[in-house]
Amino acid sequence: MQVMQQSVSAQRIAQRIEELAACSTTVRGVTRLSFTKESETANELVSQWMREAGMIVRRDELGNLIGRYEGTQPDAPALLIGSHLDSVVEAGKYDGILGVLSGIEVVQTLHEHQYRPRHPIEVIGFCDEEGTRFHTTLLGSKALSGDLRAEDLQAKDEQGITVAAAMQELGLEPSRYHLAARDPKTILGYIELHIEQGPVLEQEMQACGAVSGIAGAARYHFRVEGNAGHAGTVPISMRKDALVGTSEMILAMEKAAQKYQNLVVTVGKLSVAPGASNVIPGVVEGTLDIRHIEDQTKKMALADILEECRRILARRGLVGEFSQIMDSPAVACSQRFINEIETVLAESGMKPIQIVSGAGHDAMAVASITDIGMIFVRCRDGVSHHPDEFVTVADMQAGASVLLNVVLRLT
Ligand SMILES: [Zn+2]
Repeated sequence: MQVMQQSVSAQRIAQRIEELAACSTTVRGVTRLSFTKESETANELVSQWMREAGMIVRRDELGNLIGRYEGTQPDAPALLIGSHLDSVVEAGKYDGILGVLSGIEVVQTLHEHQYRPRHPIEVIGFCDEEGTRFHTTLLGSKALSGDLRAEDLQAKDEQGITVAAAMQELGLEPSRYHLAARDPKTILGYIELHIEQGPVLEQEMQACGAVSGIAGAARYHFRVEGNAGHAGTVPISMRKDALVGTSEMILAMEKAAQKYQNLVVTVGKLSVAPGASNVIPGVVEGTLDIRHIEDQTKKMALADILEECRRILARRGLVGEFSQIMDSPAVACSQRFINEIETVLAESGMKPIQIVSGAGHDAMAVASITDIGMIFVRCRDGVSHHPDEFVTVADMQAGASVLLNVVLRLT
């Protein structure tokens, strides 16, 4: 096994990353939205590399790219290794891509050593994880897990083109999407390698870590109403300033979040009306995003925050309302897979670090039909969704080696 470990070629991954990065509509960063000319070119490249790695390549009914490497026992359930091929606007080169290319690299290494595991291995490039073009999310992986609904394909892009129409344009038949769903009996489990998108591994000075689970997230829209008025004539004590009230609410949210370990709260969007330099803000609308790995903790923190916000609003004579936009439960990685990843980390001289993923991944959708495991790879300054996203070749080497050894243990 030692020989195999050393022959994972991060140079090959790095070179392929550059080739894929060129499949982009923008010069700055990578912009590769789903069901576009650029995503088709990327698919062709990835298909070619999958074939080079000894895999039989097919495209499922939704457009996910799947390479299969048969095991010695072809009817045994397959281990799936996946991540996504789409990107956000002006993204980095590694998000999603690194997981797909590391999977191909692992299989190519087995193939070059003429090694066949007992279980088949499938490497999957999901077509729409970021969902930037249609404001969707996890379309590809939801199709695979059977959780996609027909109405999801009616989502429209900025030009009014639906997912279904964009699929048809590329020769896919949207009405057949349900055929992309996999029978759980044919799957051994799902492993995803992904850049961390956070600073933990960098702080721990380690190339990779195991993911314990993916945090649940809830999102709210809020509206705070006070009284607009002249900025010069209304005394401070007589004002009902919606923005000052909202500011106090945001500080209270931060304070509440600090009471719970690993809870994160973000107000990422605010609009102020009427929005003039000489008018007291009358109405503020915004969003609240709250995440935690335990759904119960998230719920308790949310109740705390909403109660505190109500108190602030009442004291200031403001009227506020919160409406939930989204609530997705946390997803745990399988303990068996965490153990395997930690064993491989220890064998490679690394600490058994466990990280909660604050970001969503394809693994979340796949978790509804099979056990999932995730490996995080360090990225510089924890930056992602930005052209500055960066992973060293040495870290890619470490990540692919860990993946290879985990795959060998599982198959
Ligand atoms: Zn990603």
